[in-house]
Amino acid sequence: MDHKILIIDDTELMRAMMTAVVEDLGEVVTAATGKEGLMAALEEKPTLILLDVILPDIDGFKVCEALKKDYRTKGVPVILVTGLEKDGEAETKGLTIGAADYVTKPIKPDVLKARVMTQLELVEQREALEAANQELTHLAMTDALTGCFNRRYFMNAADMEISRMKRHAYPVVVAIVDIDKFKSVNDNYGHDVGDAVIAAVAQCCDQTIRYEDTMGRMGGEEFAILLPVADADGAYGVLERLREAVTELTFDEPELATSISIGLSELREDDVSIDDGLKRADQALYAAKKGGRNKVVIG
Ligand code: GH3
Ligand code: MG
Ligand code: MG
Repeated sequence: MDHKILIIDDTELMRAMMTAVVEDLGEVVTAATGKEGLMAALEEKPTLILLDVILPDIDGFKVCEALKKDYRTKGVPVILVTGLEKDGEAETKGLTIGAADYVTKPIKPDVLKARVMTQLELVEQREALEAANQELTHLAMTDALTGCFNRRYFMNAADMEISRMKRHAYPVVVAIVDIDKFKSVNDNYGHDVGDAVIAAVAQCCDQTIRYEDTMGRMGGEEFAILLPVADADGAYGVLERLREAVTELTFDEPELATSISIGLSELREDDVSIDDGLKRADQALYAAKKGGRNKVVIG
């Protein structure tokens, strides 16, 4: 990880000396006053700040307080550097206003460097944790094969959409898409080809629906799509296009073709949860299958 260290000190000699100590740990930028330092903290987005307590304009404690109050800089560790005696009072004050650490002049280069390294390691650990968290959140809501939302995420999103619909009184359609005779794809070409067909149909759905529509893989070869601000007739047009597009998909196996059946239903004011709409869509899907497949049916 690339680090940037901001040194705020009014003495040129101190800036040069501290730069020499930390320059192999990251890029160094410097500021000579509290005001300059605050500006640099916003513009340069440093990983860590070394802050002199005695500055000509705003004192270092106040600079530190300002940094800790601003959401843009509050996470940046500040190491206070001061010529004041380490008598406990300045140290206590510095640490209670949010400084990460405290070193005294005259600077012992090895001590300064070790303390800076400790803080940089903490920043790295925190960022690794945040990245892992984001990855977990992503995994928890997506389906691995298709990259689209999983059933649980879809159901949550759909229930939220129902609440919004009731508040703002606009139509919402829920549709279930099911690949036709999919079992025979697996039987004739193998499971891997089956997987490729599922992924291709998912991509086709994704490309056909609008930005505000939500789709999820409900399991196996079945997807659900939520179309807000669409009545049954409007949604029918979109889903007809999707049905058509799926019939035009081509695969590595030249003779392989696929189709989907779709059941859709407009959500109703008295629907308690998305399950009610899904049930009607499922009945419509059943009718589409019974009617010969490769069809869109309104339930
Ligand atoms: P219908 O036209 O009536 O929908 O027939 P179908 O064969 O598509 O329906 P059915 O529900 O009987 O078959 C679905 C098959 O999908 C059964 C199951 O083995 C297969 N399947 C479920 N999940 C996956 C998966 O992730 N990958 C693959 N390749 N197959 C899957
Ligand atoms: Mg099927
Ligand atoms: Mg099925």
